[in-house]
Amino acid sequence: MIYVDNAATTFYKPDSVITAVSEYLRHPGNPGRGTNHCALEASRTVLDTRIKLAELFDCDMRKVVFTSGVTESLNTVIRGLFGPEDHVITTYMEHNSMLRPLYRQNCELSICDGSLAEIKKLVKENTKAVLINHVSNVTGEINPIREIGKFCRENQLLFLVDSAQSAGLLPISMKKDFIDVLCFTGHKGLLGIQGIGGICIEGNLKISPLKVGGTGYRSFDKAQPDKYPSALEAGTLNMPGIVSLNHSLDYLKKQGIETLLHHEQRIADEFCRQVETFPFVTVYRNPKKEHVGIVSLNIAGMDAAYVSDRLSCLYQIETRAGAHCAPLVHEYYGTESMVRFSFGVQNTMEEAAQCAEAIYRIGKEGRND
Ligand code: PMP
Repeated sequence: MIYVDNAATTFYKPDSVITAVSEYLRHPGNPGRGTNHCALEASRTVLDTRIKLAELFDCDMRKVVFTSGVTESLNTVIRGLFGPEDHVITTYMEHNSMLRPLYRQNCELSICDGSLAEIKKLVKENTKAVLINHVSNVTGEINPIREIGKFCRENQLLFLVDSAQSAGLLPISMKKDFIDVLCFTGHKGLLGIQGIGGICIEGNLKISPLKVGGTGYRSFDKAQPDKYPSALEAGTLNMPGIVSLNHSLDYLKKQGIETLLHHEQRIADEFCRQVETFPFVTVYRNPKKEHVGIVSLNIAGMDAAYVSDRLSCLYQIETRAGAHCAPLVHEYYGTESMVRFSFGVQNTMEEAAQCAEAIYRIGKEGRND
């Protein structure tokens, strides 16, 4: 099997992650709940993981909040910060985990291509924030977060980044990129397990919580404690997820995230170079931008789901077809669906050539049902 759906969830998880998670399941403990040895050990792991994340994202470890993933993070932040009186700017590249919470808040929304020039034109009196993904999950294009962040800071706008497709692949510094809120997910480039993610907050920004409940301290208070991280962490944390991140972050540090990025970029670029020579293929890449290892395409006259099924059934090549939860990208390109190849740590140049060969054959054979 050739797994090229790493943008959905990365296939490769370091052995150290698998070992540590199963070890943890034999010796669990509830962090911040009591002082028995198991609880204390879990608390130490949580703290240590916050420190490692703060190092990776160059932010304050006291404001690294754990959630179940970037979807919960964006829901929390958007509901906690914005209302109908606010104007916010976002892009057509966003995932529904950004768009739907924004629609639900009834904010006044301006949608652009994510370039600084366009963002500048849209700012007005009641603009409160710019919200953008660092990397598009459909096209793989990398957005210029540092220059947008600088502009936001200079103009007293909040800057929120969805790093679902970039964390663990691209360098992110909340300080140098002027990010106020960074939302991340653990099971993609961070190489952890599913169900863990978080929010990193800079400065004194107050975000009201989506959920309230047990924090393990100040139990007689009727109100949720307002100190981060527990202000946004009601309930038992996902310890297996946190353990997985604790170890995957060590792995990423040892390998160097740029090594992993270059590996997948090289493979994706080679795949792209080959498929772009086939006259019946359209590749959805912005030539003016840099990309991670994601390549989305269509074969003329052929349904993306059909192509993806053929790839899987005939060639054991596992891709994803569909709208990829990002409807506005499809409006932009005039499509409803694309076949996405997303390369990862475990893929090889040879696999890129096999994927291109399979696309060639499927395109040539045409649809015969
Ligand atoms: N944003 C982007 C850009 C994504 O690619 C994804 C996952 N496809 C998400 C948000 C949501 O991530 P999760 O499902 O891990 O919460």
